[in-house]
Amino acid sequence: MSENKIPYKIYLSEDELPKAWYNLRADMKNKPAPLLSAATGAPMSAAELEAVFCKELVAQELDNDTPLFEIPREIRDFYKMYRPSPLVRAYCLEEKLQTPAKIYYKFEGNNTSGSHKLNSAIAQAYYAKRQGLKGVTTETGAGQWGTALSMACSYLGLDCKVFMVKCSYEQKPFRREVMKVYGASVTPSPSETTEVGRRILAQFPGTTGSLGCAISEAVETSMGDPGYRYVLGSVLNQVMLHQSIIGLESKAALDKYGVKPDIIIGCAGGGSNLGGLIAPFMGEKLRGEADYRIIAVEPASCPSFTRGKFAYDFCDTGMVCPLSKMYTLGSSFIPNADHAGGLRFHGMSSTLSQLYHDGYMEAVAVNQTDIFQAAEEFARVEGILPAPESSHAILAAINEANRCKETGEEKTILFGLTGTGYFDLVAYEKFHSGVMKDVVPTDEDIARSLAQLPEVNG
Ligand SMILES: *Cc1c(COP(=O)(O)O)cnc(C)c1O
Repeated sequence: MSENKIPYKIYLSEDELPKAWYNLRADMKNKPAPLLSAATGAPMSAAELEAVFCKELVAQELDNDTPLFEIPREIRDFYKMYRPSPLVRAYCLEEKLQTPAKIYYKFEGNNTSGSHKLNSAIAQAYYAKRQGLKGVTTETGAGQWGTALSMACSYLGLDCKVFMVKCSYEQKPFRREVMKVYGASVTPSPSETTEVGRRILAQFPGTTGSLGCAISEAVETSMGDPGYRYVLGSVLNQVMLHQSIIGLESKAALDKYGVKPDIIIGCAGGGSNLGGLIAPFMGEKLRGEADYRIIAVEPASCPSFTRGKFAYDFCDTGMVCPLSKMYTLGSSFIPNADHAGGLRFHGMSSTLSQLYHDGYMEAVAVNQTDIFQAAEEFARVEGILPAPESSHAILAAINEANRCKETGEEKTILFGLTGTGYFDLVAYEKFHSGVMKDVVPTDEDIARSLAQLPEVNG
C-alpha cells in the first residue's frame, strides 16, 4: 500500500474497538513466577490475595491460561469517553530527522489524568464497585495514578482514599487538587491515620515520606475496613491485562493499513504501558507467527532491566506486599534525588521480566538530560508536550530512526507516547536552566541494595 494513503492520525470506529483484553501469559511457555507470601515463602493463594485486592482482579492476576477477557460493557462505555486513542504517523518528526524510517506513536495522554493509567483505573474501580465495596485505597507518588483512579472512582460513585508521598503533596499541589476535584481524599504520607504512619513519624520526625511507606499506609487502611480494597497502578499482571487495550488498538489500526512494525518501543517503569503496547505483537512472536524487535527503555538512574538481578524481591520498600520474581535493583534502592524523569520503581513486571530473561525483548538505559532533549525535539515538530516518562521512548525511537538514516533501512517503528508533561514543568525548568544532572548509580550502590534481597532466593 502506498505510504501517502496513511493518514496523519489513524482512528478506529466504535465497532472496531477491542471487546476483550488479551492476556499475554496464555501464550508464554515459561509462565511468570508466582507471587510468594513474604511471611511463609509459599505461593499466595487467591484467598490470601482477596484480603487485599478485589476478588475478580485476583482471578485475573492468577490466570496464566485464559487468552481473552471480555471487557465489561460499562468499562467499554467509559473507554469511549477518551478512546480509541490516536495512532499518529509522525510525518513531521520523520521529516525533521530526514530518516527513511516510518515512525508511529500511540498517544495515551488525551484524557484529563494525562496518561495511560486510566485504562486500568476504570477497570479496577469497576470490579470494586461490582463486589459491592464502598471504596478503594492506593498510594501515589507524583500523582498520575491517583488522578486516574480518582476520575474512575467518581464516575462509578466509589470512595477513593489516596496516600500521597508527603514531599510530592507539598511540592506538587496541582495533581493533588485535580484529585480533590474528582472527590478523592488525599492524605500526605506518612500520616497519623495509620499505625505504620505513626510509627514512621515517631522514628523519623519530619520525614518527607516514600512510595514504600505510602503503600504500607494504603494497604493498612484497606485491611482495617471490610468495605475497602487496595489497588495498584502498575507492575501487576492484572494491570498489564487492562493495558493490552493500547496494543490491541494499535495493532487493529496498523492492520487496517497493512502496516507491520519492525521495532516496538516503550518506556518501562513498572512495565504496564510497555506490556500493554506489545501484548498482541509479543503474542504473535511467542506463537511463532511473526517477529518484532521489542525495546524497553529505562532511566540510567533506575536501571532494573539492564543492571538489576532476576530474583524474588519485595514490591515495596515497606516490605508488606508479596514477593515477586522480577528484575530488581533491591527494594531499598532509591533513585538519586536529582532524577526527575519518573520511572522510579526498583523492580519490574514479573511477566516482562520473564520475557526479557528468555530473550524475547531488549532493554536500554538512557540519561535524563538526553530524554529532555528528545522531548523538546519531539514537541517542536509534533506539537504534543510529552511526559518525561514517555520521552524515554521518544529518545529510543529517534535513535533507531537515526540508525536507519545511516544504513538506509526503511524500518517501521512504533512507540508508546504514554502521557503529557504539563505537571512536569519544574523538571523541564531544571533542564532549561542547566541544573539537571545525570546521576547514575555505581555498582557498589546497586550491590548494597541487592545484598538485602529476601532469603527465599536461597
Ligand atoms: C506511570 C507512568 C509510566 C510508567 O509506568 P508503567 O507501568 O511502566 O507503564 C509511564 N508514563 C507515564 C506518563 C506514566 O504516568
